[in-house]
Amino acid sequence: MREALIAEQRALAPWGKPATHCVDCGNEIPLERQQAAPGLRCTHCQSAIERRGGSR
Ligand SMILES: [Zn+2]
Repeated sequence: MREALIAEQRALAPWGKPATHCVDCGNEIPLERQQAAPGLRCTHCQSAIERRGGSR
């Protein structure tokens, strides 16, 4: 279980470091958020991107 989670985070963070901080604003990503939805951005930046039109 834990190894799968780590592998997932590695895939999201190619530099080999878990994404504990938002790549856009540099704010710390709450641990709850990291576990619920692993990603590279905080909720604020992620929702801003989603509002802009998803992955485009
Ligand atoms: Zn951010």
